[in-house]
Amino acid sequence: MSDVVVEITGLKKSFGSLEVLKGIDVRVERGDVVCVIGPSGSGKSTLLRCVNLLEEPTAGRIVVDGTELTDPDVDIDAARTRIGMVFQGFNLFSHLNVLNNLTVAQRKVLKRDAAQAEEIARRNLARVGLSEKIDAMPAQLSGGQQQRVAIARALSMDPDVMLFDEPTSALDPELVGDVLGVMRQLADEGMTMLVVTHEMQFAREVADRVLFMDGGHVVEEGPAEQVIGAPRHERTRSFLSRVL
Ligand code: ADP
Ligand code: MG
Repeated sequence: MSDVVVEITGLKKSFGSLEVLKGIDVRVERGDVVCVIGPSGSGKSTLLRCVNLLEEPTAGRIVVDGTELTDPDVDIDAARTRIGMVFQGFNLFSHLNVLNNLTVAQRKVLKRDAAQAEEIARRNLARVGLSEKIDAMPAQLSGGQQQRVAIARALSMDPDVMLFDEPTSALDPELVGDVLGVMRQLADEGMTMLVVTHEMQFAREVADRVLFMDGGHVVEEGPAEQVIGAPRHERTRSFLSRVL
């Protein structure tokens, strides 16, 4: 069995005549954290959305844990349950309390019974430090707490990989640290993660590899100390000089 959890080869994506991804290759090995950085509009979100097939690739191949998602015969819904996704906005179901946010997909998609789903929900809520909020409604939580619930909800599906799309960029600055702390802990526990982020300190400390994207290409990739610490490409240097 391969230790590559996500393998993206020659991925292209166009919206009409606009080519947004121009041939992307990414490998994420089991237990690795790969951070994707790059300017707004460079295609980072589109890349993540292709990985869980919220967008249909125009060309290329995406394999997640041995299943080729780009195979026209693949059971997309089954494959998607193994990919956890946390977005920039807080995508909790606003009409459901925290417990039900964490159990609804477990029950409907994974067919877990209520007791088992609740036990798994409680365990994952504890992981993100929010056990006491189990009965709260999303509107009663801070943005950072909502984002941690969203992480716990994704974890409750036992994903092979977690995708994060700028999970802290909509948060008030004082709430960012808690969410990054949970992500750091997941990384330490060996979760495989593909993280789009503007948090350069997090990328430096947590990422096994960093990809710098610009204009639909991966311009530069390598260990964080190289890509962020000693970038080789002018475009990477220019981006970093604006964000650091
Ligand atoms: P990033 O996340 O790096 O800011 P995105 O992947 O969101 O970049 O967007 C890359 C480009 O693709 C942008 O020019 C954006 O306007 C365009 N784009 C993204 N989604 C769509 C869509 N559904 N339809 C048309 N254009 C889109
Ligand atoms: Mg984006």
